[in-house]
Order: sequence, then C-alpha cells, then structure tokens
Amino acid sequence: MIVCANFKANKTRQETQAYMAVVESFVSANNISDTVIVFPPFTALEHLPRNVLIGVQNAYPVQNGAFTGEIALEQLEEFAVTTILIGHSERRHILGETQETVAAKFRFFAEKGFTIVYCVGEPLEIREEGNEALMDYISNQFEGIDLEYPDLIVAYEPVWAIGTGLTPSVRDIELLHGALREKTKAPLLYGGSVKVDNAGEIMTLENVDGVLVGSAALSANDFCDMIAQAAELS
Ligand code: PEP
Repeated sequence: MIVCANFKANKTRQETQAYMAVVESFVSANNISDTVIVFPPFTALEHLPRNVLIGVQNAYPVQNGAFTGEIALEQLEEFAVTTILIGHSERRHILGETQETVAAKFRFFAEKGFTIVYCVGEPLEIREEGNEALMDYISNQFEGIDLEYPDLIVAYEPVWAIGTGLTPSVRDIELLHGALREKTKAPLLYGGSVKVDNAGEIMTLENVDGVLVGSAALSANDFCDMIAQAAELS
C-alpha cells in the first residue's frame, strides 16, 4: 500500500518537523514496509527524516532560470527530493494549469527519474453527465502522459470530493479504478475526503493500492492511524 499526506499550504517548518518526528518514529516502531510519502510545503524541506519519502507538491520544469516565484530542479536537488505531485486539481482549477503545462512537467520530471504521483479527477458537473463524459474527461487528463513510466503512481481524486467530506460510493471508486487499471499498471491511489473512518474500507477495494490524503492527514496521529490500516492490509 501507498499512503500519502498532502499538506498543501499548511504547516510551518517547526510544525512539519514535529509532525515528521511522530510519523518517523511510528513507521520505525511498527516496522512499516508500506510506502509513506509526505508532501510538505517547500519551506519545510530542510532537515526532514528519511524513512518516509518526502515529495514536493509542484515544481517548474526547468533546471533553473528566470521564472519568478517558481522552484526548479536545482532547488529540489539541494534537498535530494525525487518525488513530485503533478496535476493536482487545485493546481489545475485554482492555479490554472492546463493539460499542456501538466504534461510538460510530467515529461521533464520523468526524464529526471522522479517518482511522479499524477492526479486526475472530474468536477461534479462532469460526473453528473454520466459515465461516458466522466471517462472522456479522465482520458483527456492523460494526454501527453506516459502511462508506462516505471515510477508513476496515479491518484484518482474527484474534484468534488476534495476537502468536502463527500466521497464517491465504493462501487463508483471500484468502477473508476477498474477503468484506470485497463490504462496502466501503475499503482492507483484514491484521494478525496479520505479520513481515519473510511481509509481502511477504501484501501480494501479492488484496484486501490493506497490513498492520498489532504485535510485528515494534517494530524500526525490520524495519518499514523491510516498508515497502520494500510499495513494491516498489506
Ligand atoms: C488532496 O488535496 O489531495 C485531498 C485528497 O484532499 P482532502 O483529503 O482534504 O480531500
């Protein structure tokens, strides 16, 4: 199983260090062999423990250069970061990343050998149009993405489920993950209002290889609880 925490623009450096101390000791004390990935803010990349993978939530697809406000490969290399989240719906819908931009990031970081957690997911109005529209929408989000990239992890995160407390039915998750499984052999994560109470059930579903958790992972103890649930299933 793969269990990921996406902090978004939450937590200071100090809070992240305290959080990681809890998660790191939990992972060691319980001999967790599942993959645990934390995506903290850029400012908290320093001095983080390493028995948990640390990834970035975004980066600009260049070595370095005149890209005001961006973080590029050179800055990630300084912290030995080789894991990145690409295509998160907040970047697509709030920050205006097009599929072209997302695919350019994918190509660049794949060429550099990064582990890429690639997110796809539909807004509510698309889901309401039915299955064909839903699958067309998701397929378009794979345009320019190499689904055979060996260090790819795909996260299905319906936009309407992120941070809302809403989740698709278990049957809908299984249907969607089944369709994704036909497209790629990559591990498939579900994300969108995963919490301690539903993580275990979601991880038992067919073709679900783990979870990507936002709000509910901001508590280190809750995140550890979800790691423990994953470990029980592994
Ligand atoms: C996310 O942003 O990736 C996410 C899944 O958020 P939440 O768990 O808060 O819905």
